[in-house]
Amino acid sequence: MGLMKQSQLFPKTLRENPKDEISANSKLLVRAGFVDKLMAGVYTFLPLGFRVLKKIENIIRQEMVSAGGQEILMSVLQPKENWQKTGRWDSLDSLFKFVSHYSKTEFALGPTHEEIVSPLVAKFSLSYKNLPLYLFQIQTKLRDEKRTKSGILRGREFTMKDFYSFHADEKDMEDYYKKMKVHYKNIFDKCDIGGKTYITFASGGSFSKYSHEYQTITKAGEDRIYVCDECKIAINAEIIDEQKQCPECGNKDLKEQKAIEVGNIFPLKTKYSKPFGLKYKDKNGFPKDVIMGCYGLGLGRLMGAIVEINHDEKGIIWPEAIAPFKVHLISLGKNEEADKIYNDLSGKGVEVLYDDREDATAGEKFADADLIGLPYRLVVSEKTVAEEKIELKKRKSDESKLINKKDLLKILNNQN
Ligand code: ATP
Ligand code: MG
Repeated sequence: MGLMKQSQLFPKTLRENPKDEISANSKLLVRAGFVDKLMAGVYTFLPLGFRVLKKIENIIRQEMVSAGGQEILMSVLQPKENWQKTGRWDSLDSLFKFVSHYSKTEFALGPTHEEIVSPLVAKFSLSYKNLPLYLFQIQTKLRDEKRTKSGILRGREFTMKDFYSFHADEKDMEDYYKKMKVHYKNIFDKCDIGGKTYITFASGGSFSKYSHEYQTITKAGEDRIYVCDECKIAINAEIIDEQKQCPECGNKDLKEQKAIEVGNIFPLKTKYSKPFGLKYKDKNGFPKDVIMGCYGLGLGRLMGAIVEINHDEKGIIWPEAIAPFKVHLISLGKNEEADKIYNDLSGKGVEVLYDDREDATAGEKFADADLIGLPYRLVVSEKTVAEEKIELKKRKSDESKLINKKDLLKILNNQN
């Protein structure tokens, strides 16, 4: 439903910034009623925040389906043996471990799913004809994070899209890996952070020279990257050598920036297929190792990064594609005209949050509209009704203008 009356919206906005939040994204998201903090690194998504998360999820799902992905849902509760097979039961500091008090059996609470998806695919005897294969999920992850001061940028519980590709050879994986970069770029462009998000050379772990991170430039970021303006790429400070030069063009004039990793893609090769015996039969019937790639993206991380780079002292400034509603309709004083516009717009499929409250002042309504940050604010008052106009203001700009009611839909549909 694209409709909501603010008199009924749960919860009310808070007047003050929450005292226990440090980062800009969490101060604003908590105060504006998008999320509620349950404990450090764990948040409840409230109606406004849930709508944003679902919009991000839909953008991501659409891209992953167009990349050939088949959606599945794997479990959070995972057997210890799988994690022992790869050595990560002992080596992964962020792994939450959980004991059944009946059987004393130990489990892992999934921080990622290579240990589940690889044996899953290995159960079904694959031939070269079944490859490539692409599986993905959008699901809860749990990680015992040391620092949790960045709001939804770093949760101990968070939602991730994780995509796994399975190939007959490295060339096929590498070609697909390049295609996936285009889908990632599409996601960041659609969420309006493409201009600030750089594909970044990062550590590949033990199995590959590089992985690629998607780093969004923001002061709130916990990573340091070096940007090459020529190639529009970056290098993570973790891996840069003393010479500090671009691996693509050799440029030595790199800019140091703080950034947050919103996505990470890896050429896994046989790192997880080997321990789980994930093989396929080639044309001659011989068993060969399956070559894998994996592609992660955090939904809450992305939402938090968008807030970090799109806000001012008054509140959030949502990009249109992921705003919880397109329009914040404000009625000043009780007037039937505002009710009518609300019904008209919703009849035309425009997503509207209608501030119909009779017990809030104009000042409170305007402050809430700035805090919540919907792209368009419409004001209907006695004055605008007398002039047969509506006041329209974009959240991004300071100027408001009076428009004719008949032009409203056209303007809302054409403007960005
Ligand atoms: P970081 O270095 O920031 O801890 P990571 O490299 O451990 O992240 P990955 O394992 O690459 O994270 O996970 C894939 C994606 O999941 C990340 O690019 C990020 O978008 C998201 N993500 C990872 N950890 C968190 C977290 N604690 N809270 C929210 N999102 C996360
Ligand atoms: Mg990473």
